[in-house]
Amino acid sequence: QVPLKPGRSLMDWIRLTKSGKDLTGLKGRLIEVTEDELSKHNKKEDCWICIRGFVYNVTPYMEYHPGGEDELMKAAGTDGTDLFDQVHRWVNYESMLKECLVGRMAVKPIAAPKALKAFAYVIFFLQQIPEDEIVVYCFYLCLCSRFCKICSVSIMPEVSTVDIFYDWFQTDSLVTIVIYTKQKDMNAELVIVDCQDKRLRGEIIMNDHSYLVEVDLDHAVSEDVAVNIAEKVGKVEIILSKKDNIHWKMLGQPSEGHNTFIKRTDRGLFYRKCQLVSKTEVTHDTKLFCLMLPKGTHLRVPTGQHVYLKQIIAGTEVVKPYTPVLPFLPLDFQEPPCHDGVRIYLMIKIYSHGLFTQALDHLQIGDYIFVSNPEGNFKKSQVQTSEDLVLLAGGTGFTPMVKLLNFALTEVSCLRTVKLIFFNKTEDDILWRNQLEQLALKDERFEVQFILSQPTKDWVGKQGKISSSLLSELVKRSRRDSKVLICICGPAPFTEQGVQYLKDLGYSQEEIHAFTA
Ligand code: FAD
Ligand code: NAP
Repeated sequence: QVPLKPGRSLMDWIRLTKSGKDLTGLKGRLIEVTEDELSKHNKKEDCWICIRGFVYNVTPYMEYHPGGEDELMKAAGTDGTDLFDQVHRWVNYESMLKECLVGRMAVKPIAAPKALKAFAYVIFFLQQIPEDEIVVYCFYLCLCSRFCKICSVSIMPEVSTVDIFYDWFQTDSLVTIVIYTKQKDMNAELVIVDCQDKRLRGEIIMNDHSYLVEVDLDHAVSEDVAVNIAEKVGKVEIILSKKDNIHWKMLGQPSEGHNTFIKRTDRGLFYRKCQLVSKTEVTHDTKLFCLMLPKGTHLRVPTGQHVYLKQIIAGTEVVKPYTPVLPFLPLDFQEPPCHDGVRIYLMIKIYSHGLFTQALDHLQIGDYIFVSNPEGNFKKSQVQTSEDLVLLAGGTGFTPMVKLLNFALTEVSCLRTVKLIFFNKTEDDILWRNQLEQLALKDERFEVQFILSQPTKDWVGKQGKISSSLLSELVKRSRRDSKVLICICGPAPFTEQGVQYLKDLGYSQEEIHAFTA
């Protein structure tokens, strides 16, 4: 993120796109763009970028890009799809840049692959096409396949071969879909099911790939969906209750992505509508939002992962990431941890000029908001092998630490020390201070240290900003060779500087996990 000039916020951009101004310079005409043409538009004052086969004139967007002009220029005059997917595939560019659409990439003839040639020959024999027309057929087929690739990667994703498949069977009252993943450590967090209005979508996460079952069901089912997982053999059952006791001839009409095993980055983000059921104050500017998942949804957000919320603001889809927390910290270890799988809790700071958080704050109880599948690269196994866990949080960078603390203190027996170093501007900004202090009293492994950057003169605790000297004083191994994991999250510069200081202090890359987008 870079500081943007005044008048260059996302809201200002949305206003500009609604102003009726010709942002492409083509007076609303859509054109076919050749690679050669695209490459000519590679300057700040004339910049075109191709994303998934569509070309955008991003010149007017330059000053509004939150990542800065230089970042955008990396893709100037080229196909920026991979770069875009690496940095923020969740940003809904189709909506944000629709007024900048120049057109599609022109299709370039390519050599016919062998399979296509063979296919063309079959057509030739069946249809008695004169032999000299076969070349035309080959070209036509190539064009089709190329076109599909350009239109959308999801039409022809790079399908990996893997031994995963599904089957289904029925009784008078139930329909059971069985997915044989053969993954030994299959668990509830890796299975995401949405079954609403006769549409079933079941996604199984397998590292950076996912397997999808997606059909329009043959008949109606009730809202209750059960998910059973045989963890050791990796068998997943999705059990649906028939609304009427009739025999189904088929499971349903498969969708485009049905029965595919592809990279997760090649699947679009899936959203479901969740209802706001409560909103409670945490501090003067931060609230705990409780969202209810729809009936028929099975979704557990793993520790350390975030979701994306989507709202339509001034007619434009806006998406922002948020990290689910628990309703409270694990103070009572007698009670099982509260992961009911029905509600999602989000601790969100409302910025007075924030586009998304202002809209969020205006939601009424009972209103709906779109919530995506979880994402993130944190792995619980990083904690499971550690003896010392250090959490460095800045402001709402505390949110990933909530589930992490819960997991560490309730499920990781090898941990000897857990320390949260929590940076805030003022005392009033400290999130869940009371709960954290109580937790420290309850569990002797846990220690919390608050550091304020803008304290009042009454503050007797530590003050300052994240720095090498502060970290060398506060981040310590409990024994000389103990295995340590340091997790850090906060404003981007806070995280970047923190990681650098830790490296300078001799901590290795493997000992540091930074939460970023
Ligand atoms: P924006 O409109 O983006 O503005 C935010 C504030 O910054 C405003 O005061 C605005 O005036 C100012 N501002 C905006 N852009 C600039 C600029 N370029 N220069 C100077 N000032 C600027 N937040 C949470 O509260 N809770 C979470 O759990 C959480 N989880 C996150 C997880 C991830 C992975 C990431 C990347 C971020 C997370 N965030 C979280 C932050 C969240 O995604 C939003 O960025 C945040 O809510 C602000 O959104 P907004 O649209 O309201 O604010
Ligand atoms: P904030 O109140 O502005 O700041 C919290 C603390 O961080 C303050 O002590 C502040 O000190 C310090 N800080 C801010 N900018 C700094 C910088 N450039 N260098 C060093 N220290 C700095 O924080 P916030 O408004 O809650 O923002 C939280 C941030 O965390 C957001 O940017 C959000 O996107 C991010 N976040 C990320 C994730 C994730 O998973 N990636 C999850 C949740 C939140 P000063 O007095 O110097 O400002």
